[in-house]
Amino acid sequence: MTDSVADGMDGNIGVLGGGISGLTFANLVGRAEVLEKEWTAGGLMRSVKEDGYTFDLGSHILFSRNKETLDFMLGLLGQNVITHRRNTKIFYKGIKVKYPFENGLGDLPKEEAMGCFNDYKTAYEKREKGELKAPQNFKEWMRYRFGKGITEKYLYPYNRKIWDYPPEKMDIFWVEGRVPQPPLDDVRKAAMGEESEGYTHQLNFHYPAKGGIQAVTDALAVKVGKRLKTGFEVKKVRREGAKWVVVGPETRVYDRLVTTMHINDFVRLYDGVPKEVREAAGKLKWNSIHLVMLGLGKAKLNDIHWAYIPDSDILPNRISFPSNFSPNAAPPGYSSVLAETTFAPGGEKAWMKPDEIVERTVEGLHRIGVLGRKDVSFTKLVTCRYAYVVYDLDYQENMKVIEAFAKTEGITLLGRFSEFRYYNSDRCIESAMEKAKLFY
Ligand SMILES: Cc1cc2nc3c(=O)[nH]c(=O)nc-3n(C[C@H](O)[C@H](O)[C@H](O)COP(=O)(O)OP(=O)(O)OC[C@H]3O[C@@H](n4cnc5c(N)ncnc54)[C@H](O)[C@@H]3O)c2cc1C
Repeated sequence: MTDSVADGMDGNIGVLGGGISGLTFANLVGRAEVLEKEWTAGGLMRSVKEDGYTFDLGSHILFSRNKETLDFMLGLLGQNVITHRRNTKIFYKGIKVKYPFENGLGDLPKEEAMGCFNDYKTAYEKREKGELKAPQNFKEWMRYRFGKGITEKYLYPYNRKIWDYPPEKMDIFWVEGRVPQPPLDDVRKAAMGEESEGYTHQLNFHYPAKGGIQAVTDALAVKVGKRLKTGFEVKKVRREGAKWVVVGPETRVYDRLVTTMHINDFVRLYDGVPKEVREAAGKLKWNSIHLVMLGLGKAKLNDIHWAYIPDSDILPNRISFPSNFSPNAAPPGYSSVLAETTFAPGGEKAWMKPDEIVERTVEGLHRIGVLGRKDVSFTKLVTCRYAYVVYDLDYQENMKVIEAFAKTEGITLLGRFSEFRYYNSDRCIESAMEKAKLFY
């Protein structure tokens, strides 16, 4: 993989935002300059380092189905990498069920496991015979694909919690391919207590030995070098003839424009956006996340990497154990937990006070036996405004309007919140690679 390409075209390119998408793009296109509002680049792939702990902005691991992409990520880390075999659970009614749930049915009481399998089989067979109505929304899709048991015990409550949006109001075009469909026999074996694995492209994952997930974006930032301007918050963008004028702490003029900012923010600061485009962007759904970072005065809590918590009585939807990703993530003799609570903007959890978020997180994790309250010796709360894109039923219609506008203006949308897709970092990298080709 080449670091940067020879400039086949004239003209300089402005890239708004220095997360993994903007940095990868600028790494490939030598005449691109990245404007990043924070003093540290990396976006969602930054890490908080405090009191000997390293926490990411939400649990991040490195994996990809695509070897070229994975090689690119790992190439950035060199020797600074640890490879793990996933040990991931769903905390369900006091039982640690192996993830994915359908492969962990054997951890449930026999009767519940067989109930889930029978429902899975019924859905499977009816679907094959064409006896099931095609699902119209995400809730219907869960029943259609996984049957009643797995849906009601895990899929529905967990998805209701992570999106903080009703699955019955979510589209399904994105789930096929993303949520794998295990063979009937695997689910039968799982229910009988035999070992089977699902979601296998992520079964082995990688993580930086030092520096948290930010080690990846730090390495990219070094390659981009002086073409990365941090502390540059873009406030206004306007078109002047064939050029773009970008106003921030200073004014920059570009021949081409790539934006990785959240599409809503971009639309707000771009001069002369038509009303229908502003309205379409305003209708897009997304959620935010509270991250409670906990340090514990115990050398080892468990050997789990991360766990999902579908129970709505417990605040976090997912927890991870950074000190199990890398021993460098916590001081010697200590361990760490990162608890994630996603929430809809303006919803109930958006208004919780910081102390209440930390307290309810610790209390909940104590109650389900993850940690002992008395062991908690470090707490920190970070809230990120943008976490997940939510594919509501109007998503595709709204995106058509926005994409058509970007195309007419000649602006390249790149990355998770600009293309507005549920991209992991591997897809951000791939999209940057694909788009960079248009500039060679
Ligand atoms: C909880 C959680 C867990 C995740 N886990 C994984 C995982 O395990 N593996 C994985 O591969 N991916 C994971 N992801 C996804 C991954 O974090 C994202 O896909 C990726 O970081 C998005 O990169 P990006 O560059 O597109 O966007 P961002 O990282 O959001 O970058 C956009 C950049 O634009 C900057 N910006 C915004 N406004 C302005 C402005 N006005 N002026 C200048 N700059 C501006 C921002 O500061 C930011 O740096 C996870 C995401 C979340 C939320």
